[in-house]
Amino acid sequence: MQQKEYADIALGLPVRKPFHYRVPPSLMDKAEVGKRVLVPFGPRKLVGYIVGFVGKPDIEGVKDIISVIDQEGPAISAELLSLTKWIAEYYRSSWGEAISAALPGAIKKGKIKAAPRNPAPEDIYEATKNYKPTLEQASALKPIFESISGGRNDVYLLHGITGSGKTEVYLQSIELALKMGKTAIVLVPEISLTPQAIEWFKSRFGGVVAVLHSRLLDTERFIEWKKLKDGAARIAVGARSAVFAPVSNLGLIVIDEEHETSYKQDDAPRYNAREVAIERARISGATVILGGATPSIETYHKALSGEYKMLKMTERIEKRSLPKVDIVDMRQELLDVKDAKIFSRALEHAISQVLNKNGQVMLLMNRRGFSTFINCRKCGHVVKCRHCNVSMTYHYDIKKLSCHYCNYQADPPAKCPKCKSGDIQYFGVGTQKIESEAARIFPAARIARMDTDATVKRGSHKQILDDFRKHKLDILIGTQMIAKGHDFPRVTLVGVISADTALNLPDFRSGERTFNLLTQVAGRAGRGSEAGRVIIQTFSPDHYAVRKSVDHDYAGFFDEEIKFRRELGYPPFNHIIDIKLRGRNEERVIKAAHDLAAVLAAHIEGKDIDLVGPAPEFISKIKGQYRWSMFLKGSKPRDMCGYIDKALEGLAGKSAVTIAVDVDPLGL
Ligand code: ADP
Ligand code: ZN
Ligand code: ZN
Repeated sequence: MQQKEYADIALGLPVRKPFHYRVPPSLMDKAEVGKRVLVPFGPRKLVGYIVGFVGKPDIEGVKDIISVIDQEGPAISAELLSLTKWIAEYYRSSWGEAISAALPGAIKKGKIKAAPRNPAPEDIYEATKNYKPTLEQASALKPIFESISGGRNDVYLLHGITGSGKTEVYLQSIELALKMGKTAIVLVPEISLTPQAIEWFKSRFGGVVAVLHSRLLDTERFIEWKKLKDGAARIAVGARSAVFAPVSNLGLIVIDEEHETSYKQDDAPRYNAREVAIERARISGATVILGGATPSIETYHKALSGEYKMLKMTERIEKRSLPKVDIVDMRQELLDVKDAKIFSRALEHAISQVLNKNGQVMLLMNRRGFSTFINCRKCGHVVKCRHCNVSMTYHYDIKKLSCHYCNYQADPPAKCPKCKSGDIQYFGVGTQKIESEAARIFPAARIARMDTDATVKRGSHKQILDDFRKHKLDILIGTQMIAKGHDFPRVTLVGVISADTALNLPDFRSGERTFNLLTQVAGRAGRGSEAGRVIIQTFSPDHYAVRKSVDHDYAGFFDEEIKFRRELGYPPFNHIIDIKLRGRNEERVIKAAHDLAAVLAAHIEGKDIDLVGPAPEFISKIKGQYRWSMFLKGSKPRDMCGYIDKALEGLAGKSAVTIAVDVDPLGL
């Protein structure tokens, strides 16, 4: 029998070392790897997780575990323990932080049972049957079936254009996994985890589906989690954290829209659920399907190189044509029309045509609010947030200026705060302005707006989409929230008010983002029997991300993009590790950034690693915190992390500045 006198306890603290506690004889029977325990920590009592047992530690005053919380089995399985260990090492977090990310809130708080509650009545779903696969679906399913039935840890990239029927491939693959007595996890981006998407799974598989998403209350989440852990549910459908679904005997993980940024967690552990899923599947011998119309450059590169297996679906179901995409060059529009408007002539004309034919229109504007900045015509002063270095956005509904980074609100000034001039102008277009313009031009149309302002109320999101689906609305205006996943057969026109908002961001992924967004939103048009049309307004009609989206040409886009990545040594040719510094005192932040950079530069000297920066970030202050960063670029993330650790050791004690390290960041 293993000695259990001392235990390694992982605590959900940002300290990357094990904590040792003694297991008192009274708890020896109950103590088990994966179980939660209560331990003393300074004056506090914390919930921790037993991750191993050790010999007598070399230190004095080892404290006793107070109690073992889990009476029956461990809260976290051996499989998830190895997975979280991998996360902690790769993404440079503590093991405890990674374990905390993997468990629902109720469990982390040390509760044994969720608060008693009357379960909401289950929605009734009409059962659906499998479609007979199309030729393309069949040829994708064949190798996937072989992998699942052979229990092979293969990773597939299912690159299928929008409307090609990827969901049916997922559903039939899951069905096979279930038939073999295995379980499945389906990850979808939070934004497309709509009631409609959930319905697809529930109506095919009924009660064995558990759904995990951020709109759930703690208790609801716990109930879903418990169903999976007990084996009552065998399919987990959810956003990022569903990669930790407590299923056993995992056969398949599906990641839809694998390029989505919402798979990356913003705070520690800063993991990407796609990479975690691939690692989990490796540990469990499961098959992985990465799906999408616009794969991430990293994933597509791996599929081309043979590391992943490429499956293509190039036709829409029932041979529906892809929408015709037209570009409106807004530079020309401004030359032609003196008083040019938000809607170009072409877009306005197209909208009225569709409305006349009783069709539906979606308009994409990737910014909330009414006017995105206001300034003084006399002295040029721009009204900025008092806590952040960003302009305030005017919100028409509440008649206030609002900061989109910290939510600070203020009344719009009647006079310039600087020069007292009354000549204040409202610039920049947000969704609210589009809404009011559309209402002015098309007074008879029924219009709704969907963005985070419009959907803060629980359920309003579903209500708007339902109304649109039932054709109680003619025009739906929204941010990228409307771009993903929805299937509205009566939408024959999609208008992109500006392709430039994403393109102009100072990030090496801006081209990729733009291409993805344009392709996704275009995919909403023409999903019914009538052909669809897309109109993209832009000041950069010659950018390849815009041009290639006109032809729905992912491969062509990839060829251009990969050249640029190769030239500059960006991913997938290297890994990036971002180091972010934050603090209220600007001078200290700057000094810490330069000190760290100097030490880091010495550590990486002669190695094949680049240090870029330090520099202030694009938004140099948020919520009163100044923001500087630098990043390392190189092929071996573990080595780079090692150098960062060494450099940070030497700088210990600069507590006024917080430093966060982000491995494989999705935004710079
Ligand atoms: P994607 O996810 O690739 O964008 P979807 O999975 O939404 O595409 O499929 C588009 C539409 O085609 C959906 O309404 C779906 O129900 C339907 N569909 C999928 N497979 C078939 C099939 N084999 N036969 C008929 N209709 C299908
Ligand atoms: Zn002024
Ligand atoms: Zn602010």
